[in-house]
Amino acid sequence: MNNFLLSVIVPVYNEESNISPFLKRLLPVIKKYQYELVFVDDGSTDETLAILKKEAVRNERLKLISFSRNFGHQSALTAGYENCLGQAVVTIDADLQDPPELIDKMIQFWQKGYRVVYAKRGKRWGENYFKKTTASLFYKLINALSDVPIPQEVGDFRLLDRKVVDYLNRLPEHSRFLRGLVAWGNFPSKDIVFERNERFSGKTHYPLSKMVNLALDGITSFSIKPLRMATYFGTASGILGFLGIIYELTRKIISPQSFVIGWTGLFTAVMFMGGIQLITIGIIGEYVGKIYQEIQKRPRFMIKEKINF
Ligand code: UDP
Ligand code: MG
Repeated sequence: MNNFLLSVIVPVYNEESNISPFLKRLLPVIKKYQYELVFVDDGSTDETLAILKKEAVRNERLKLISFSRNFGHQSALTAGYENCLGQAVVTIDADLQDPPELIDKMIQFWQKGYRVVYAKRGKRWGENYFKKTTASLFYKLINALSDVPIPQEVGDFRLLDRKVVDYLNRLPEHSRFLRGLVAWGNFPSKDIVFERNERFSGKTHYPLSKMVNLALDGITSFSIKPLRMATYFGTASGILGFLGIIYELTRKIISPQSFVIGWTGLFTAVMFMGGIQLITIGIIGEYVGKIYQEIQKRPRFMIKEKINF
């Protein structure tokens, strides 16, 4: 049953204090398989790379890709997918928020024929109320907008079959919202629920700004509904404005003495319209920016060094 190659991809960005504890927990789990462990160093500025290089000398199955600078989590995962060889490919975070022990269960389901096995976040420990609410809001929003159902509470801890990895590697787009891209393929999939622990050490590298970027990327990659909504809003406020003009004109003709000029109404209307216009321009800008990035066809990341490949 175990004559397959398992690839484990770990994106790391400034995780110096997490690597040893992570390896201590991960290695006993994957030792029973033929494995390759692919670390992608996403331009860390601390000792992460040095520690990984030392580990790579001791263990030749530990492979290392290092980026020339920080390109982001999704790019690191993409580099892992493009450089791994396994029939089953697991992506996992290095901060022990994703329990490595779950990999056994993922493999069992994979062997039953599922092409995608998601680890779904049940309880979340040690993440504050704000992070949990914004995360759940994000999943709701993206599902309301996207034409592809994107699984709720599912992060990037998952197992993919080689077929799915090949499919991802063939996708030409620059922008990589991997959770959406995997869902888009609609492969037979299975969820395993787990309790998400606190970070072993260090702080999250997903502050609000990066979460907003990820959300915008996810939405603009999978839906043009925001553009359509801009059209709807514009049409609705246009019709309202037109009705308002007719109303005022009629009033002026029928009873000119009751015609009072109030600036509050005018001011609110101008502010409201100004707001809607700015938001609309912003939405269009998001998509124009996306088109610009796609036609530049710049590589998603620059690899500085590869070890043990
Ligand atoms: N990470 C990365 N590049 C980044 C940010 C994060 O490779 O620009 C890695 C990070 O080292 C970790 C994983 O992606 O292994 C998840 O990041 P983090 O734990 O900060 O996110 P959270 O779990 O808080 O969503
Ligand atoms: Mg984390």
